[in-house]
Amino acid sequence: MKIDKIYVDSDVRETPLATRVLNKLRGIPFEFTDETALAARALSPAEGKRSLWITRFKGPFLKPCPGTDASYLCCNYWVLNIQANCPWDCTYCILQGYLNQTALTLYANLEIIPEELDRLIERLPGRMLRIGTGELTDSLALDPLTGFNTALIQAAKTRPVILEFKTKTDFVGHLPPIATRNVVVSWSLNPARIVETEEHKTAPVRERLEAAARAAAKGYRLGFHFDPLLDFPGWEEEYAGLIRELFSAVNEEDVAWISLGSLRFPPPLKPVIERRFPRTRITSAEMVRGTDGKLRYFRPVRTAIYRGIYSGLRSRWKEVLIYFCMENKTVWKEVMGFSPPSNEGLDYLFHENFFRRFPDLGLREPHPGDYLGSCVAP
Ligand code: SF4
Repeated sequence: MKIDKIYVDSDVRETPLATRVLNKLRGIPFEFTDETALAARALSPAEGKRSLWITRFKGPFLKPCPGTDASYLCCNYWVLNIQANCPWDCTYCILQGYLNQTALTLYANLEIIPEELDRLIERLPGRMLRIGTGELTDSLALDPLTGFNTALIQAAKTRPVILEFKTKTDFVGHLPPIATRNVVVSWSLNPARIVETEEHKTAPVRERLEAAARAAAKGYRLGFHFDPLLDFPGWEEEYAGLIRELFSAVNEEDVAWISLGSLRFPPPLKPVIERRFPRTRITSAEMVRGTDGKLRYFRPVRTAIYRGIYSGLRSRWKEVLIYFCMENKTVWKEVMGFSPPSNEGLDYLFHENFFRRFPDLGLREPHPGDYLGSCVAP
């Protein structure tokens, strides 16, 4: 990662974050400015990935995961958007068509997060709240610089939440050892050839898995996201090899969850991907528009890939929770033989699985009644 320029919102110039970043990146040109002036520069995606923007976030950090429409089951996850944008450059990255500001954005007012967590816990007592920072960024990409996650781990230590940091890096060296084990570091996984061709600048899959083993040794639980699963000639052997690598890198007892999700994106992203990555093959696949408007592989293609991955994982790992991200009930039933009845039912499954597998967390016994009602922002 190379940073060429740091922009600091004049409002936050005296904050500990601005001081820390400017000290750590001494020598890199910086400028005090404001949002309008930065927007007027209209940084290209490539320029944005080499620029830092330190500012204040003017809304709640904690929100329900936007999920997708009601035909697809979502897991009632919560997102904590502590920064936005990502220095890596995956061809399929949804952020390319999503955020107006392309600079790597760091928020300097995270001190309000513990209060937001407390309000959510009070509002939804009895639920096991899963909260992640990787929706609009790679959770660990800038962490050695910001130290954000160390502060979040502290906040999670005394609260009944499960925090998740999603990454495609091997940046775990700076993470502190933890005893509470309610923090999950998770990696998205794809075969090495896909990482090389579609996940530019990210860590090779072998290094991700080695980092996962190091994180487990420090007390973190692990998560893996086979997402986006891609349809390409030879996927059967390559995903099977990846699953073998996973089995030899870590133990099932350390794995909190595994998700499966196939390639999907809104149609306007297609020309963006083709313009930025003319050599990619991912947009040449035959796709269908789902009820949420996103393009996906046809259901039989998705089901075949999911079956391959699911049976491969279950051949050795019988207990870990495996779930789909944004899939419909038909696919759940075709692949796993059952489907959660609703988003709340899926949320409950996480609690039930954790209660059974991880007694060290001291979780309250799950009650379906605690999961009635939708995921509403506090
Ligand atoms: S790592 Fe995630 S956020 Fe970063 S470019 Fe890839 S898909 Fe986008």
